[in-house]
Amino acid sequence: MPELRKDAVTGTWVIVAAERSKRPHDFNLQGHHLKHNDCIFCYGNENKTPPEVLAWRPLGGEPNTPGWTVRAFPNKFPAVTVQGAPDCRETPDGNIMTAVGAHEVIVDCPDHSVSFGQLSDRQAELVIQALVERFRVLSRNPMVRYIQVFKNCGTAAGSSIEHVHWQLISVPVVPENVLRETAGAEKYREKHGVCGYCRMISGQGTGGERVIETGADFVVFSPFASRFPYETWILPRRHEADFRGIGDKELTSLGRILRKTVGRIEQALDYPPYNIVLHSAPLDKGYRDYHWHLEIMPRLSVAAGFELGTGVFINPVAPEISAAVLREADPGMRQEPVRKGGN
Ligand SMILES: [Zn+2]
Ligand SMILES: [Zn+2]
Ligand SMILES: [Zn+2]
Repeated sequence: MPELRKDAVTGTWVIVAAERSKRPHDFNLQGHHLKHNDCIFCYGNENKTPPEVLAWRPLGGEPNTPGWTVRAFPNKFPAVTVQGAPDCRETPDGNIMTAVGAHEVIVDCPDHSVSFGQLSDRQAELVIQALVERFRVLSRNPMVRYIQVFKNCGTAAGSSIEHVHWQLISVPVVPENVLRETAGAEKYREKHGVCGYCRMISGQGTGGERVIETGADFVVFSPFASRFPYETWILPRRHEADFRGIGDKELTSLGRILRKTVGRIEQALDYPPYNIVLHSAPLDKGYRDYHWHLEIMPRLSVAAGFELGTGVFINPVAPEISAAVLREADPGMRQEPVRKGGN
């Protein structure tokens, strides 16, 4: 059973999930990918995944059959377990608890060879709708304190499957990175009287040198202290701590602007491996100073000894340059996803 362990001195949580080492393609560093027919995310292979928990089927149809446009199901090799309770035990080495939570996959479209930046705006919106829906459902479990939504794309970004997808993992603790951001947001508000994230947005009016795109509902920019080359953040203009507070119009805008932003990164950097993380407030109450957002991190450099030793990243590309490059980049093609047959 996967365990959460907390270091007695630093307070850092880790998940020890020994079961996951059994999954195929683990530690595949060569980047070999599955052929379409073998891909469990493709049409015709629905019975090879755990039963679906959500699927958009515009033409109707039976669950766990082809015909879906977006499909979600539990991860076959979860990093957490839905069984048990998160009872925390103290040991001299640190705390330990069962890693209770859900680990789900959302497949973005039926087409195996399409990238996120090549989705149609409508398809990207359907994906965001599915993310919000699953986030809301998972958040109803009272044992869950935080939900991480993320996308791994490419072997170097930790993905063992080429077919474009997202994952959600819910956990019974609030992880360190999230605590640092929520505590930082609170301190910033105390000191300056405004939300630090709102200030980032207002400080980057059109023409700002780190701005990539400004929309009615979202702003896309290279953060001032970017850790990675071409690191890109997407912030909602409206102050809201919790992703579940997203409105219908914002949902449509987010689909479009996220697709375009990933499209720019794909075009400018020739389809690099990348990760996207959603940061939303922990599910406990009392994080009104937080401001939810997305962070996109192309994986062009490797965190090495200095980064691991210090937590300080050496970024070889100034965010002002990164923004200029991405602003000029073609946001990519938009195609309607190609419908494929059963195999
Ligand atoms: Zn596939
Ligand atoms: Zn704010
Ligand atoms: Zn963040």
